[in-house]
Amino acid sequence: MHMNRRTILKWGISTAALASAGSLHAEATAHTLPALPYAVADLEPHIDAATMTIHHSKHHAAYIAKLNEILATQPKLARLSLDALMGQLGKVDDPAIQGALRNQGGGHWNHRFFWTIMAPPAKTGQPSAALSKAIDEAFGSMDAMKAAFADAALKRFGSGWAWLIVQNGKLKITSTPNQDNPLMKGCVPEADAGQPLLGIDVWEHAYYLHYQNRRADYINAWWNVVNWNAVNALFKA
Ligand code: MN
Repeated sequence: MHMNRRTILKWGISTAALASAGSLHAEATAHTLPALPYAVADLEPHIDAATMTIHHSKHHAAYIAKLNEILATQPKLARLSLDALMGQLGKVDDPAIQGALRNQGGGHWNHRFFWTIMAPPAKTGQPSAALSKAIDEAFGSMDAMKAAFADAALKRFGSGWAWLIVQNGKLKITSTPNQDNPLMKGCVPEADAGQPLLGIDVWEHAYYLHYQNRRADYINAWWNVVNWNAVNALFKA
């Protein structure tokens, strides 16, 4: 059963005692839709409010609902944090369960990440000195990194994501299909695995209302809402 605070109080068990026994973390809790860290219109004119509303409240919410349905049949996996789940997918034996979790769990992780690495244009900050140095070392310049990232995003055939990742201590640009991501070791090719710093959703649902077929225009505009403050913090970590 799910043990919430109310249940604990009713039973007269102290929260501290449960926490020290690890019990509070032993029960699976359903994944929930995180609130956007800004208003839906705050990324305009680069990403329009209607796209943000549908993307967050319909698409992201649907991934979470389906993820919870799958996890209801997978008690061990249901106890994992979303990050831990991504790392364990390569070890899931049942190909049908693994495939469904790549799509729905990946859909949840990717969108949760995506909202946080964007910010209103006036609040994006700038790349830190440390991040700028690493980008220069890996790609030659910020412009060269952006060009390589845009190229990966444009060349992703059909639906998927382009990423800036840290792999073995170095920055690298990769791309994954569908809702795969670089945390899915054993599912994605070794060359595409790592810790994401940036990721762009190039599913048509991410841009079609405003940009129609002009994916390149969407990618170009997206740089105006990249939350460098968040990317700096991820790089530091
Ligand atoms: Mn999406």
